[in-house]
Amino acid sequence: MSTLLEQLHAQAGEFIGLRRDIHHHPELAFDEHRTSALVAAKLESWGYAVERGLGGTGVVGRLVRGKGKRRLGLRADMDALPIDEATGLAYASSHAGVMHACGHDGHTAMLLAAAHHLAERGRFDGTLNLIFQPAEEGGGGALRMMEDGLFDKYPCDAIFAMHNMPGLPQGRLALREGPAMASSDYATVTLAGIGGHGAMPHRTADPIVAAASIVMALQTVVSRNIDPLQMAVVTVGAIHAGKANNVIPQSAVLEISVRALDREVRGRLEERIKALVAAQAESFGIKAQIDWRPGYAVLVNAPEETAFAREVALELLGPERVTLQAPALPGSEDFAFMLERVPGSYLLIGNGEGDSHGACMVHNPGYDFNDDNVAIGSAYWVLLTERFLRD
Ligand SMILES: [Zn+2]
Ligand SMILES: [Zn+2]
Repeated sequence: MSTLLEQLHAQAGEFIGLRRDIHHHPELAFDEHRTSALVAAKLESWGYAVERGLGGTGVVGRLVRGKGKRRLGLRADMDALPIDEATGLAYASSHAGVMHACGHDGHTAMLLAAAHHLAERGRFDGTLNLIFQPAEEGGGGALRMMEDGLFDKYPCDAIFAMHNMPGLPQGRLALREGPAMASSDYATVTLAGIGGHGAMPHRTADPIVAAASIVMALQTVVSRNIDPLQMAVVTVGAIHAGKANNVIPQSAVLEISVRALDREVRGRLEERIKALVAAQAESFGIKAQIDWRPGYAVLVNAPEETAFAREVALELLGPERVTLQAPALPGSEDFAFMLERVPGSYLLIGNGEGDSHGACMVHNPGYDFNDDNVAIGSAYWVLLTERFLRD
């Protein structure tokens, strides 16, 4: 497959320039106006049928070739993060406090580079849907595009997405079948007690004692209610209560973060946390209110589509540069919502390891996407498209 890689190497310069331009003009979730306009204009100029404004600032480009019935979806994310860039690069962010610190500039550039090649000389038969989504970083842009009819207007038989990964050798592809990234849910527990004098606790209902007891009781959810072979996290990240040593406050608030790698475990965590909070609070004569906010779902890679994605990776790079079953990650990713609707697979591309600049972790102010991945990442998308939509 060296010829395909060579072809994408030959055009990579243009897309590295585009990547740096996007990096220089980062935009936060649902504010990706310049980026999505740029994406839409490029796709249109290459002959794609383009829809703008799906899910706010999302863009879909469709290219139909031949009479094939198969429909493929490829997704990239476009949003930046509220971070002050500290890379010192010539193309560093020109927007104070906003930075492409997760490489979504690179994901966009890789998919555009593939889009260009596929329009010019892609050999496929069927429908290609390129999905550029807003607000991956906590905003749930994938869900917003789906609520706007993404898969009703652009049905897909399978969908794929790729994220860069610092610490993994540059250009290495890592796949995983099954649960690959965690769900993340949030809960705010408000404990309403009866405040009073610290010297007369018997005339109060102390929310601080109740809060302390709840924090300890919550530790038993993972250790006693969840299968020891399953991953689960319950973290109380904040406690807010009281101001003075001799005043028992009226209320206390707990902020809880909950993660799981399995849909059933996720449900069990919610059920047990709610039950424990209610029972514990009641035992202290305290009223508890729990505001449960579901975040991203567990990201589950489908077996058949992952097997296919592995074959494409092996064909492009050979076994030395492909990890067939990578470990799961405790982070979250809203492509999970798309995978709940359409089977597919989410893979990683190594951003660099050791003391290379590509090894700096995402969400760090010193991070930068590795431009050497533009050719490999786009070649992967081209080959995957040509294999999935075989003519
Ligand atoms: Zn991120
Ligand atoms: Zn990201």
